[in-house]
Amino acid sequence: MQLTHQQACTEAERCLYCFDAPCTQACPVHIDIPKFIAMIKSGNVIGAAEVVKTSHALANICGKVCPEEIFCQSACNRAKQDSPIRIRELHLFATQQEWKRGYSITPAFPKNGRSVAVIGGGPAGLGCAFELVKMGYAVHVYDAKGFGGVPRNSIPSFRLSNDELRSDIEFLSPFVHSHQRLVDTKAFARIREQHDGVFVGIGLGLDKPLGIPGEHLPGVLPVLRFLGRAKMNTAYIGKQVVIVGGGNVSLDAAATATHLGASQVILIYRRSETEMKVWKSELEEAKKRGVQIQFLTIPIEIVGSDGVTGLRCRRTRLSDQHDASGRPVPFEVPGSDFDLDADCIIVAIGQVIQADFVSLFERTSQGFIRVDDSYRTSLDGVFAGGDAIQGEGTIVQSVAHGKAAAHAMHDYLTAETRRAQR
Ligand SMILES: Cc1cc2nc3c(=O)[nH]c(=O)nc-3n(C[C@H](O)[C@H](O)[C@H](O)COP(=O)(O)OP(=O)(O)OC[C@H]3O[C@@H](n4cnc5c(N)ncnc54)[C@H](O)[C@@H]3O)c2cc1C
Repeated sequence: MQLTHQQACTEAERCLYCFDAPCTQACPVHIDIPKFIAMIKSGNVIGAAEVVKTSHALANICGKVCPEEIFCQSACNRAKQDSPIRIRELHLFATQQEWKRGYSITPAFPKNGRSVAVIGGGPAGLGCAFELVKMGYAVHVYDAKGFGGVPRNSIPSFRLSNDELRSDIEFLSPFVHSHQRLVDTKAFARIREQHDGVFVGIGLGLDKPLGIPGEHLPGVLPVLRFLGRAKMNTAYIGKQVVIVGGGNVSLDAAATATHLGASQVILIYRRSETEMKVWKSELEEAKKRGVQIQFLTIPIEIVGSDGVTGLRCRRTRLSDQHDASGRPVPFEVPGSDFDLDADCIIVAIGQVIQADFVSLFERTSQGFIRVDDSYRTSLDGVFAGGDAIQGEGTIVQSVAHGKAAAHAMHDYLTAETRRAQR
C-alpha cells in the first residue's frame, strides 16, 4: 500500500531533520533525505521527487523494494523516541506522484562529444549510464533482455509491480541509445573499439547447480529460470515444492511458489537460522505464509525416474571452523539420511556470471570481475560494478557502484585527453 497524501504529510512532520543526517550517510547513493522529506512537508512533492531522482536512477524501483531496514531507516534517530521515519515509503510516495502527474520534460544535457558503452541494463548499468549522460556523454546501453536487470526479470510482481518498474524505465530510456543484444567475446571487442570507454554491469545470470544425482529430472528448476517464468505467467509449480538454499532469493522462490498455489513449500538450508543471509522481514513473511524451513539439512540425491518424486537429504552439524564468509562450516552427520516427498525442486544456492567475455578479465577467487578502488578492471578503459564484482548485493548498492564508476571513467577519459594534447 502506498501512502496517501495525508499520511505522507503526517509522516514527514515526524522527521527530526538531524544536522548530520545519518540516514543520508547510511544510503549507498546518499540521497538528501531530510531535504526531500522537508519538501513533502511543505507540499512540494515534485521537488521532493527530483531530489531523489538526482541521486538515484532507479528511484521508483528502490522506493518499493530497497531493504530500508539495513540502510536509511536503520540509522534514523527518531527510532530512539518511538519508531523510525518511514523513509522508503515517503521516497516512493514522491516519485510515484511525479510519475502519475507526468514527468516534466528534462532538458537535454550538453554533449561533450565522447561516446561510452554500458554492457548490462540492470541497476549498475543504468546507474552508470544516467550519471554519464549528466556529464555529457553519448551513452549506448547493450542488454540481452532489455532494460531492468533482476528487478525486471526476477523480482516477483507481487513485490515490485510493473508500474514501479515502468516508471523508471520510461524516465531513463530517452537519455540513452538502447541496443537489445547479447554481448559475446567478438561483440565485446567491437564495442571496445567503437567507444571511448566501457562499463560492464552484467550481474550474475547463471544459477549454480547442486551437482547431485537426479538433477536432470523434469521438475528440477534453477531459481532464476523459475522466477523468470513466474514473471511471464508461464511457470509450472507442483503441489509439494522443496527449495534448496538459504538466501533472499530462495525466500522469493518460496513466496512465489505459495502464490502460484503449491500446497506445501519446504525450504532446506545447511546451516541454522542465525547464519541465513536474509532480510529478517522477508523471513518472517515467508514463515507467515506457511513456508516450512528445515535447518541443518543438505540435499544428497533427487529421487524419481520420469520426474521428481522426492529429495533425499542428510542432516548437518556446525563445526568450530569458519569459512571465508565467517560462518561455521557444516559437517554431514553419518546415518541421518531421510526423504522428503516433492514433485518440484527449486535450486537457489547462488549464481555466477554468464557472459563468455568474462574470461578476458582478471577475476577474484570467487569468480567475480576484479576491480580496483576506482572500479577499473584489468582491461584498459574498462570499468565494472554491481553483482558481477561482489556477488549478490542490493539494487541501491549496484546503482552506487555504477555512479562511482561513471565518475572514475570521466576522470580517466579526461586525463587521457590531457595526455593526448601534450
Ligand atoms: C530474485 C531476486 C530478488 C531480489 N530482491 C531484491 C530486493 O528486493 N531489493 C534489492 O535491493 N535487491 C534485490 N535483489 C538483488 C538485486 O536485484 C541485485 O543486487 C541487482 O539487480 C544487481 O544489479 P546488476 O546491475 O549488477 O545486475 P543485474 O540486475 O543482474 O543486471 C545485469 C544485466 O546485464 C544483462 N547481461 C548480462 N550478460 C549480458 C551479456 N553478455 N550481454 C548483454 N547483456 C547482458 C542482463 O540481461 C541484465 O539485464 C534481488 C536479487 C534476486 C536474484
